Amino acid sequence: MVGGVSSPVRSFKAVGGTPLFFVTGRGSRVWDADGNSFVDYVCSWGPLILGHSNPKVVRAVIGAVKSGTSFGAPTLPELALARKICGIVPSVEKVRFVNSGTEATMSALRLARGFTGRAKLVKFEGCYHGHADPFLTRAGSGLATFDIPDSAGLPASMGADTITLAFNDEERLEEAFRAHGAEIAAAIIEPIAGNMGVVPPAPGYLRRLRRLCDENGSVLIFDEVISGFRVSLGGAQELYGVKPDLTCMGKVIGGGLPVGAYGGRADVMRLVAPEGPVYQAGTLAGNPVAMAAGLAALDQLDRRAYSKLEALSAQLEEGLLDSAAKSGVSITVNRVGSMVGLFFAKGEVRNFKDAKASDHVLYPKFHRGLLERGSYFPPSAFETIFLSTAHSVSDVNRTVASARIAFREVAG
Ligand code: PMP
Repeated sequence: MVGGVSSPVRSFKAVGGTPLFFVTGRGSRVWDADGNSFVDYVCSWGPLILGHSNPKVVRAVIGAVKSGTSFGAPTLPELALARKICGIVPSVEKVRFVNSGTEATMSALRLARGFTGRAKLVKFEGCYHGHADPFLTRAGSGLATFDIPDSAGLPASMGADTITLAFNDEERLEEAFRAHGAEIAAAIIEPIAGNMGVVPPAPGYLRRLRRLCDENGSVLIFDEVISGFRVSLGGAQELYGVKPDLTCMGKVIGGGLPVGAYGGRADVMRLVAPEGPVYQAGTLAGNPVAMAAGLAALDQLDRRAYSKLEALSAQLEEGLLDSAAKSGVSITVNRVGSMVGLFFAKGEVRNFKDAKASDHVLYPKFHRGLLERGSYFPPSAFETIFLSTAHSVSDVNRTVASARIAFREVAG
């Protein structure tokens, strides 16, 4: 396998060492092939909001498998999950299931271009929208981790249609729409950036973006692949009260199985084949096993679940800040619910430039210090630390105690 992995950041290349091979996950814990166990703060990069092997999800998956793993035709769990998502997220009037977040974002962009008859895309530095060509310039996640500003293999012509702006910079946003408004098909944004560490939107920023898209007839796409059903049931759009035209989903809606989805305004979604001329399809899309897992996961996300996530995540945030301060290490923590971003930085982190300017020598040391003491943080400083409802106060206590020692090692 290339780099020993099926996706780059898993390689541990950014933090030193070799990739961990996991054999078991239960609740908040994972066990590797060498028999070591860790409290898991990666949670499969976000999907496992209920932790590993959630009993109701496992039961739903087994039940679905016994009824047939794939039909390539509509099924009842698919219908139920579609109804559920449209019921929870008011801006999603119609939905299409796909197999990954990457498929969701690339399809949403094609749809926006089909709807507007325009070509230009506005996107934001440090956001990651999967690995389709148009999104692979100045992106976050693995590209930031491995310092690949622009992926190789992109056609040079693409640059002409892509406008990449600094996140949280209202002035540049206004300028871009003033200069190109009539040609902009879509603006795509992670409403809470989770691929340059965690960077929340500045107050009013998303509303300003919404207004500019309205004034210019551009489609506003929220990529809620991470934030959807994670920061609150209705996602970032519910939290900040800003309604996008299209929403990209993934991760949590699959309950740990491969699922993505995009949805939004009915008049826009109606353009997708077979209702309209924008083509997009998938052999395994809406797979019944994955749909059953997603349904079983969403069914368990009630107010209690989010209060628990909030309390545990606040405990982790406070514990990290306190133990870093006691060791004389400067850190900044950005947190929205159970999305936690840790930066070895002195001041605020409001955009990709700030995230990149934080200390990237210290993070690998800190990561190793935690790993050696049984806590598994993402093997890159540009990723989100996730908690699940399966985490406990004592899990977090243990991690904070380990962090206290790891910070001291970093300082020394
Ligand atoms: N959008 C966002 C915001 C993501 O974080 C990711 C993946 N981390 C994607 C899209 C792509 O999803 P996938 O890896 O399922 O293709």
